[in-house]
Amino acid sequence: MDILLSEHIEGPAINRLAAKYSVVCESLLWKEPARLRQQIAEARAIIVRNQTQLTADVLAAAPRLQVIGRNGVGLDNIDLEAANHAGIVVIAPLDANAVSVAELTFGLLLSLARRIPQAHQSTRSGGWERMRFMGVELDGKTLVVCGFGRIGRRVAMMARSFGMRIVVFDPYLPADSTALKECHATRANDLQASLSQADFVTVHSPLTPQTRHLFNEAAFNSMKRGAFLVNTSRGGVLDEAALLGALRGGHLGGAALDVREWEPPPSGSRLEELDNVILTPHIAAFTAEAQGRTIEAVAADVDAVLSGKSALNAVNFPQPRRGGPGQGA
Ligand code: NAD
Repeated sequence: MDILLSEHIEGPAINRLAAKYSVVCESLLWKEPARLRQQIAEARAIIVRNQTQLTADVLAAAPRLQVIGRNGVGLDNIDLEAANHAGIVVIAPLDANAVSVAELTFGLLLSLARRIPQAHQSTRSGGWERMRFMGVELDGKTLVVCGFGRIGRRVAMMARSFGMRIVVFDPYLPADSTALKECHATRANDLQASLSQADFVTVHSPLTPQTRHLFNEAAFNSMKRGAFLVNTSRGGVLDEAALLGALRGGHLGGAALDVREWEPPPSGSRLEELDNVILTPHIAAFTAEAQGRTIEAVAADVDAVLSGKSALNAVNFPQPRRGGPGQGA
């Protein structure tokens, strides 16, 4: 086997790889860590979405592996340090889906402000309840953007054109950042202080040990009463139990989540019961355009590495330190 696909990934780019290499597609393999370990032992390349956990243990079981293709952006399911140590190239086309994620984020912001999904559901069931669906405007409101990278910046630009005031929290952002100026945004040094100004908050930081449960009870308490929260980054950045408390207690006006602490979430998760919660199943990057761009870029780079060439979208180093063209290592 040359290339292993451990999640559901398909398209012309995969067909082209299959014409040149021996490709094994097992769309549910990510659910079976023991079998993943067996299969990856044979592979020179693996292509994953965000569900396959490529831990140091799993990578240690992959002596032939030269390249990991991440069909998406977040790298929290890949142990980068272990990959570096083993000389495995990690590919992730980081800009390929930013537009799609930003657009869904904005759709969720508008949906929270105007309760569009709830009004749709009520009207479809025969209702015509205009007063129940009184909303709020975005114009003139303060949006806190947590994480001002590729996606956060795009959301801020969109928000700007809606007349929103933008406050950015990103501890790694230089104070003289041009992107801040372009969005007429101000930079906050302290998350809690920025949250106290927010009518809306949108989260675009990666999941790291520093950001896990960054949005906890204290953070929710710092938010204005009635404020709205959107998360399209990673579920673990939010403490869902604390969010549930903040929503039930009426402190937050509503939340829209594309990502969850556990995916898929366990049945009976209480957030589903709340009328002011909007949930989508991790679809922010799921547009025809973003999926096409992403898999084309990943496939081209996997092919490049397996042929001994440099990858364009390597997030560690562009060529492997193990193996070589046609070699099993
Ligand atoms: P990026 O790397 O361009 O930007 C992330 C920003 O977060 C950076 O500016 C970084 O400085 C900042 N950051 C890091 N630690 C922080 C902290 N402690 N507090 C605040 N900010 C912090 O990444 P991106 O392309 O904008 O993507 C952001 C995240 O969105 C990804 O890490 C990924 O997890 C998620 N994502 C989700 C989907 C989806 O389908 N829902 C799709 C793509 C990306």
